[in-house]
Amino acid sequence: MERQPWHSLSAPGTLKHLKTTADGLTAQEAHRRLQEIGPNRLPEPPKRSGAKRFLLQFHNILIYVLLSAAAITLLLGHFIDSSVILAVVIVNAVIGFLQEGKAERAMEAIRTMLAPRAHVLRDSRRLSIAGEELVPGDVVLLEAGDKVPADLRLFDSHGLQIQEALLTGESVPSDKTTAVTAEDAALGDRLGLAFSGTLVTAGQGMGVVVATAGETEIGRISGMLSQVENLTTPLVRQMGIFAKWLTAFVLSLSAVILALGYFVQGHPFNDVFMAVVGLSVAAIPEGLPAVLTITLAIGVQAMAKRNAIVRRLPAIETLGSVSVICTDKTGTLTRNEMMVASALSPKYVFTVDGSGYEPDGPVNLDDQPISGADHPVLARLAQAAVLCNDAFLHEREGIWQVEGDPMEGALLAFAEKLGSSSDTTRKHWTQTDRIPFDSKHRFMATLNHDHEGKAFIFVKGAPERILEMCSGQWSDGIHTEAVNSAYWTDQAETIAAKGQRVLAFAIKPVEPAHTVLEYADVEQGLTLVGMVGMIDPPRHEAITAVNECHQAGITVKMITGDHAATALAIGKQIGLHKTRRVLTGVEIDALDDAQLKSVVMETDVFARTSPEHKLRLVMALQSHGMTVAMTGDGVNDAPALKRADAGIAMGQKGSEAAKEAAELVLADDNFASIAAAVKEGRTVYDNLTKVISFLLPVNGGESLSLIIAILAGMTLPITPVQILWINMVSSVALAMALAFEPSEPQVMKRPPRPVNKPMLSGFLVWRILFVSLIFSAGVFGQFFLARAQGVGLEAARTMTVNTLVVMEIFYLFSVRYIHRTSLTLRGVLGTKAVLWAISIVTALQFLFTYSPFMQIFFSASPLTIPQGLQVVAFGIAVLLVLETEKYFVRSRSEAL
Ligand code: ADP
Ligand code: MG
Repeated sequence: MERQPWHSLSAPGTLKHLKTTADGLTAQEAHRRLQEIGPNRLPEPPKRSGAKRFLLQFHNILIYVLLSAAAITLLLGHFIDSSVILAVVIVNAVIGFLQEGKAERAMEAIRTMLAPRAHVLRDSRRLSIAGEELVPGDVVLLEAGDKVPADLRLFDSHGLQIQEALLTGESVPSDKTTAVTAEDAALGDRLGLAFSGTLVTAGQGMGVVVATAGETEIGRISGMLSQVENLTTPLVRQMGIFAKWLTAFVLSLSAVILALGYFVQGHPFNDVFMAVVGLSVAAIPEGLPAVLTITLAIGVQAMAKRNAIVRRLPAIETLGSVSVICTDKTGTLTRNEMMVASALSPKYVFTVDGSGYEPDGPVNLDDQPISGADHPVLARLAQAAVLCNDAFLHEREGIWQVEGDPMEGALLAFAEKLGSSSDTTRKHWTQTDRIPFDSKHRFMATLNHDHEGKAFIFVKGAPERILEMCSGQWSDGIHTEAVNSAYWTDQAETIAAKGQRVLAFAIKPVEPAHTVLEYADVEQGLTLVGMVGMIDPPRHEAITAVNECHQAGITVKMITGDHAATALAIGKQIGLHKTRRVLTGVEIDALDDAQLKSVVMETDVFARTSPEHKLRLVMALQSHGMTVAMTGDGVNDAPALKRADAGIAMGQKGSEAAKEAAELVLADDNFASIAAAVKEGRTVYDNLTKVISFLLPVNGGESLSLIIAILAGMTLPITPVQILWINMVSSVALAMALAFEPSEPQVMKRPPRPVNKPMLSGFLVWRILFVSLIFSAGVFGQFFLARAQGVGLEAARTMTVNTLVVMEIFYLFSVRYIHRTSLTLRGVLGTKAVLWAISIVTALQFLFTYSPFMQIFFSASPLTIPQGLQVVAFGIAVLLVLETEKYFVRSRSEAL
């Protein structure tokens, strides 16, 4: 469809132009249009071309060092060495290129998992569809928290405010109306349009899709869209900086040694230079950055498999150090499979039976089924339950399911049990206006008109809130009795103490001419009709997960908008420790920040809270030095999510605004997934540590050997190209196995890692130095032993190279368990990744040693079987030394 200045066309005109109505398209027509114009998907941001990505692999200080080494070696006439260096550089670039592609695909997959949904009217029905399926002419409903899914011409607005910073740079939300504006109005002044990608911050509205995909305003400037995020975290960045400094240090050291060897000791330049090249190659951990990146990418994928989608990568690390999780109750700790179990009228308490959302089951009074006709007030209650409600029930393969809020679905099933058909009721009473639910006000209201000129306001919400608004209660009619507050409060409390979620219903007749619903209309003069209590059982897996968190030294706090008694009952079932005390929103308001700080640690359940309380709680916990994970779903939760160390948004019931503010999105809204993410976070951090403590000592051992050899003027036990082979082939292949390392069995049994704990802890530094020493001892030991046995230089070096690799293999087993012995069945058997890595490396070493081709390039020479055994013996010796060290360090740290 051609571009139109839609903002200067009236809303009805737009609908007509797009051949649609305010009730939306038919599903059939929408389907046809989708076929014709294609999905509402933004054009991909221009990707870096493959060639450019490949060339960028060479843009790296290390590669520059290697390339200059290759050039100078060539000048010195070492043709073979220089071609080996070049080959290794190219292999390294290819691996980097492939890994980067893999990491990018991981991030890509995550982006599609986060694709937003849209609420539309089709066949006059409200539906939730994938944003991609929108076509021009579709009618879209907007409410606070939504991300606008396409460019819309608005034809209905109730206090609609949209934040358009993305397009206009203006961070204050603009008020949106249905107004017609001048054709040349600037983007920010086109009040009647809502633009794709912007966020609804308040109110609600409806609009018709005028442009999708690349035709939208945002689509036309898509160059600035969704940049691919770099796969990095603070730790990996620190390691990057560390690697740069190390390179600089190594280069200066090499220069000094070159000068010393050539000028002072008078060795031939050629020899000293080759030795110095070997030293630089030996000391720089070439493979480290690539392996760290892969470890992160694998962490992201592992979390996604456990339903935790990482939006910002540093969160992977933060999650590992979380010390308190603040979680919602409804749907996160509980199943959000609601069923009405009790109903209260002004005189009686009824119990309700049934299963799931099936609209069939008895309503009992004193264990006897009742008939609706005997209790007219129940018919009113049913009417309010159906009309003040946005959900639908439908049966699919014999199972009743809800489209919309599960709580509202439960109310529909309840109304049907009372014999009230929701379809008929809704047809008879059209909704003219509504005030949507928000967690701050804790009620929702609708205004309904029937065809006979009658009009009512229906309100449902938290009992205390509704009681404040009522001036009478139902008794064979409206307003006929004063509200018996004591009765209602008592009964509501009793129901809530069983863990049921309590809702109150009220109505108010209004003049038929009244068609706009304002807050002032519902603030007073309502008639209380009744209350209902809904069960929402806790999730089994949440109970297990809470227990797991407690063992892992993580506090779990429930922060809910629900009634204190309900929250307390559920808290008990879930296993929250300190549930004897509940702090309510009102009580929090009475505390200043210092007082809140002093009580926040003593309470695990916070009830009747609103989003501002969440923000204060996050800050109070942080002031205790805790690392806080906080969940949220609504627009108003965004500040708390942003402030928390790890903001977690609900993937299913969460608003787009909450998702944008969060670091992590839970695909299944389940608390167990948070615990799983924390576990993965700890595992990834462990694995990063393992990769580092595996690779650094290898470099340390190599460089130590070379420095000693050069300074002592000895024959080098390993040549530079052989070192290059070890660093860029064998070590990387082995270290890669650590990226796939599963969680250690103890991972959720130890307390959280303090945030400011440095990566290179004293223990790790000691370990790196210690292993470096062992490795260089192994290198010299084997080399001199072989020479003493009369083995030729090339064969002795081949033995030394293989010894180093064998020591690495045995060290790999040791490093897999940092604090515990590796000599257990599980430790010895290894993992698939470990076994693969070892098989590959062993095969490569055989190739290195025995293939004539490799022998030319690496001056290797074939070994005899006894020589081979001698090599393996060194590896075993290393493992024994390492385990002994672990034993002593372990018993010492246990004694502390
Ligand atoms: P939470 O999600 O933490 O359980 P909410 O903020 O969603 O709490 O809800 C708080 C209270 O608001 C509930 O206890 C209930 O009484 C009321 N409430 C929740 N949802 C609705 C709704 N859709 N309509 C009316 N009232 C609601
Ligand atoms: Mg809720």
